[in-house]
Amino acid sequence: IRPVHVVGGGLAGSEATWQLAQAGVPVVLHEMRPVRKTDAHQTDRLAELVCSNSFRADDWTGNAVGLLHAEMRKLGSVIMACGDAHQVPAGGALAVDREGFSEAVTARLEAHPLVTIAREEVAGLPPADWDSVVVATGPLTSPALSEAILALTGEGQLSFFDAIAPIVHLESVDMDIAWRQSRYDKEGPGGDAAAYINCPMTKEQYEAFIDALLTSPKSEFKEWEHVPYFDGCLPIEVMAERGRETLRHGPMKPVGLTNAHKPDEKAYAIVQLRQDNALGTLWNMVGFQTKLKHGAQTEVFRMIPGLEKAVFARLGGLHRNTFLNSPRLLDGTLRMKADPRLRFAGQVTGVEGYVESAAVGLLAGRFAAAERLGRAAVAPPPTTALGALVAHITGGHLEGGAGSFQPMNINYGLLPPLEAPKYGPDGKRLPNKERGRAKKRLVGERALADLDAWIEGQRALEPAE
Ligand code: FAD
Repeated sequence: IRPVHVVGGGLAGSEATWQLAQAGVPVVLHEMRPVRKTDAHQTDRLAELVCSNSFRADDWTGNAVGLLHAEMRKLGSVIMACGDAHQVPAGGALAVDREGFSEAVTARLEAHPLVTIAREEVAGLPPADWDSVVVATGPLTSPALSEAILALTGEGQLSFFDAIAPIVHLESVDMDIAWRQSRYDKEGPGGDAAAYINCPMTKEQYEAFIDALLTSPKSEFKEWEHVPYFDGCLPIEVMAERGRETLRHGPMKPVGLTNAHKPDEKAYAIVQLRQDNALGTLWNMVGFQTKLKHGAQTEVFRMIPGLEKAVFARLGGLHRNTFLNSPRLLDGTLRMKADPRLRFAGQVTGVEGYVESAAVGLLAGRFAAAERLGRAAVAPPPTTALGALVAHITGGHLEGGAGSFQPMNINYGLLPPLEAPKYGPDGKRLPNKERGRAKKRLVGERALADLDAWIEGQRALEPAE
């Protein structure tokens, strides 16, 4: 069997390599460290954790990332196995001893008879005779390779920074205060004249909001991370620093909208939310990219009328981050449409986080293995966390919003919703909090059952021993 080449031995590339080798496919893993360093990595180990040592919540019944852990364990993930083996106490979270963890991943890959590790930079498009490649070079992809990818994908299809506006769960927006309407009732994507959700502010509320923006703590940029501010990606607190009225003439302008609940009251400023996923469960705050610290964001954004009880699927940020406009560029099994021998994995596909990056690596490895072994590469169903993640990056993200595709952690908003049970086993009506909890458990149970069925289906494709 001809080898598959994996470029980048981070979280995604290590997992992709492991999955390929375990499926019986030889792999050459090309990792540029220590020959060439990145601005964040400190060692020459594979799967180095560049910042925190946490894989976040581990409970599959109550947390979407915990569900992703459970699914990855079912699929023999090396990242989860080494994480579990090097766990340190962290309450309900899975935190790991970073040294022990990445040493273990490195040792397992080095010891695998089907894995060859080449310590070298792939400084351009892979050579033509590499007929199957997984590119997993991460948020700090080396400049030579990113330039080559950019030349292949075209201007604007590879980002070098993310400018992330917070995303809220629709069910947490108070629609007795907010209302749906497009500015000047103009039809948006899909011919919808009520494409936005609008949150109105009085003058007093606006002034208090600006004060909070100006005084709340902000995250500092690292030296190398410096973002060249360009129009359309200025953080809101920087806009507020430029003048108290700047936001009211920018993303918070109140024109062309009429409060459906109070048609006679003219709002002084308006915050707009735009649908963010095809399911319609997640909505982003238009133009609200920010470097406010996460704790401060929750506090400040809950000052917005209608968002007092907002639950955030993702908070805002601004980072150096190389990632593709995947919904446009990649097919359903992560292959680049313009050059299908290249498959992408990890954060460069527009997911966010260690676990999500490894999860997409796991899928890319399995897809590449299936293809190499002459079987169909099939994604898990979108009711699983793995399937939902790959569906989000390859197509579930709203077309039309594709220009604003921004990296995302796994969250329940990416999975098809389920109706929460109204009554408990004792026949009594469940309080809302318990209904929410019951719903998450049901989504988890459905995901794991559907994943089991998918695994069975995959097994059926394998030749008998
Ligand atoms: P990486 O783990 O970065 O792996 C990519 C690998 O490719 C690297 O080893 C690199 O050396 C190699 N490489 C790059 N270019 C080439 C080339 N041309 N040829 C050969 N090799 C190449 N996520 C969290 O969950 N928690 C955090 O605390 C966290 N903190 C972060 C802090 C920073 C500064 C950054 C940049 C990101 C952070 N992330 C965090 C986000 C993300 O989850 C991690 O970056 C994660 O490591 C991404 O996994 P990956 O496999 O896609 O990329």
